[in-house]
Amino acid sequence: MENILDDFIEVCRLANIPNLKKSSIKIEEGHPTIRLKKYTMAVYIFNHGDTCLKVGKAGPNSNARWVRRHYSHKMSNNNLPKSLLSDDILVKKENINEFNVKEWIETNTIRINIILDENFGIFVLNLLESFLHCRLHPKYEGLKSQNMTPSISLVDESSSMAESQFWDGYCPECMLNDKQSRLLLNNYDFFECENCSLQMAVPYPGLQAVVLNFRGKHKFHSSKTYADKVNNSELLYVQTLDRFPFCEKTQIDAEDLKNFISQIK
Ligand SMILES: [Zn+2]
Repeated sequence: MENILDDFIEVCRLANIPNLKKSSIKIEEGHPTIRLKKYTMAVYIFNHGDTCLKVGKAGPNSNARWVRRHYSHKMSNNNLPKSLLSDDILVKKENINEFNVKEWIETNTIRINIILDENFGIFVLNLLESFLHCRLHPKYEGLKSQNMTPSISLVDESSSMAESQFWDGYCPECMLNDKQSRLLLNNYDFFECENCSLQMAVPYPGLQAVVLNFRGKHKFHSSKTYADKVNNSELLYVQTLDRFPFCEKTQIDAEDLKNFISQIK
């Protein structure tokens, strides 16, 4: 840890933040039982043996989350219990389930908290987090598939923006099951998942992609047009209208999307 911090201070120097010294950084080990101190912010690391599981950050205003976020799978989409519970190999090996995951984390992981004065600002916090991602290669960073090709990108929780969902051309339903399935243009001019027949309409390419509430029938155009050929990163919507453009401008978060998909017949 010491070496890494020395290197980070060098990074700060290169980034024109010369006032960040080793004495500006406080390192604490342990799972938090109290809130992060006022006027501070932190980057935390979860280690399991030699493996770094997660590196995340807590801005000056995320005090309540500091204690709870990574100990209940219900707290947010991007948290350690969720990642652990979707790691089939570990779940089997360690007998983890949603009832004992908190205890498993407290018993089997070491949490290192790197605490900084909030005056250094969010850019420095982001820099430290990114630096540690590169150095430590956490096993579960963001969504499980984020290390490969993200289907849905979440805006980080520490920002005050809604967690907008973007589409990269692959099936959002299969993505929830950690599968990457392609969507092919069908005879109704919707993109349809080759695997689960979920359908997507793209009323405005580059802007909106809409998950439809009914499945396709595997009747594809002979031309074989795949949705992932062009990645326009459309914002994801769910169907609320029967006709074009199939959706109203209601932003959805990951939970809304999941609920909607679970109700597609
Ligand atoms: Zn699918």
